Amino acid sequence: MKLTDNIYSLYIRSILIPKMEDYSNPGYVYTKLTRDSREIMLRDVFVPEELVAEIEAKTVEKYGDEGRKTLYRIGKNSCYVYSKFSGFETVETTPNLKKLEEYVRLLVLFIAGTYGADVDYELDIKNKVQKISFSNYVVCQKNGIGEIFASGSAAGMWAWILQDNNIEVVQYKCVGRGDKTCSLLIALPETIEKRGYTAFKASIQTDIDLTEEYLHLNKPYPTEAVKLSLEKLIAFNVIEFKDGRITFHQKRYFECDSHYVYFLELMHNDQNLLFEVTKEYYKKVGEDIGDKLSTDYIAGFLGAMGWGDIMIHSGPRVQLRHYPYTTLYDKTKYTVIRGVLSGLLSAVYKNDVNLKEATTVFDDENTFSVILE
Ligand SMILES: [Zn+2]
Repeated sequence: MKLTDNIYSLYIRSILIPKMEDYSNPGYVYTKLTRDSREIMLRDVFVPEELVAEIEAKTVEKYGDEGRKTLYRIGKNSCYVYSKFSGFETVETTPNLKKLEEYVRLLVLFIAGTYGADVDYELDIKNKVQKISFSNYVVCQKNGIGEIFASGSAAGMWAWILQDNNIEVVQYKCVGRGDKTCSLLIALPETIEKRGYTAFKASIQTDIDLTEEYLHLNKPYPTEAVKLSLEKLIAFNVIEFKDGRITFHQKRYFECDSHYVYFLELMHNDQNLLFEVTKEYYKKVGEDIGDKLSTDYIAGFLGAMGWGDIMIHSGPRVQLRHYPYTTLYDKTKYTVIRGVLSGLLSAVYKNDVNLKEATTVFDDENTFSVILE
C-alpha cells in the first residue's frame, strides 16, 4: 500500500497541485476550489519555513508548555477555518464511512504532497482514531515542535471532518527530534491518554464563515505597483519552483491560508517576540538579496508572495492595497506584516526601521488596504 501511495503522492504533487493553485495574478496567491458548481478562490500567502520554525522555537524557549499550547491553538483554529472554507467532506456530508475514508485518503495524500513526503496512515473514522506518518514534514523537521502546521493543523482539520471539536493531536515522533518519521495520533483526549500520551486541549472559534464580502474583497483586481505575478517570477528564475516547492535564495517558502497569519497575530501571547523574530528574519532576507535590493524589488517580491499591491512611500509609510482580507481584519495588530516590512526596509535603508502602527481602510467597495507606519 505504501509504495503505491508514494507514486500517487508524486502524481498529486506534479499534476493535481498546479491545477488547484493559482499564481497568475500579481499581488495574489490562491487555492482554487469548486463548491456547489461555483469557483471559490481562497486567499493564501507564502511564508518562509525557517521563520515559522524560529517563531515556534523562541515561543517555546520563553514560555514552555503554555507557549506550545498557544501555537497548537493557532494551528487548530486556522486549519479548521481552512477546512471549512474548502468544504472538505465531513461525517455529516458523507455519512457513508467507507466513502468518507476514500475521500480522506486522497486528502491525506494531497497534504503529504504539499507539506511532507512518503505518507503512511491508519484510519478508523468510526472510532475517531487516526495515525498519520510522514518521512518529513514542513517546519517541524527543522525544530522538532511543529505545533502550528503539524499537530494543531491536523487537529483543526480532523475536528472539521469528524464534526467534533474535542479531537486533539499529539505528534509522538518527529524527524526534527531525531525520529525516522513525523507521526501524529489524532483522537479524542481520553484515547490519546489511554495510549500513554497527553495532548493539549484547544477550543475552536467556529463562527468564522465564508462570506460574500470575503470572496469579493479577495478577487484579483488590477494592481498598480506590483506588476509581476509569482508565475512570472518563477519563469524569470527569481523564485525557484520544483516539485511543487518554492524557494527564494535557497530558503523554502510554503503556501498557507491567510487565516494562519491572522490567527497567529490574534492569539500569540507575545506580540513583541512575534514582531522582532519576523523583523530579524526578513532583514536577513533583504541582505541576501544583495545589490538588487530596493523598495521596488521588495514590493515586487512580497506582491508575488500574495501580500497585495504594495506601495512604499517615504517616512517610511507602506500601503498594502488588496491585502488578504478575512473577517478578523479589525481584530489584529498586523504584527507579522509589520515585522516583514520593518526587516526588509531596515536592510534597504541600512537603518533600523520599526513600523509600529497598522490601520485598515476600505478605499472603495473593492479595495481593502492596510497602512503601516
Ligand atoms: Zn515532525
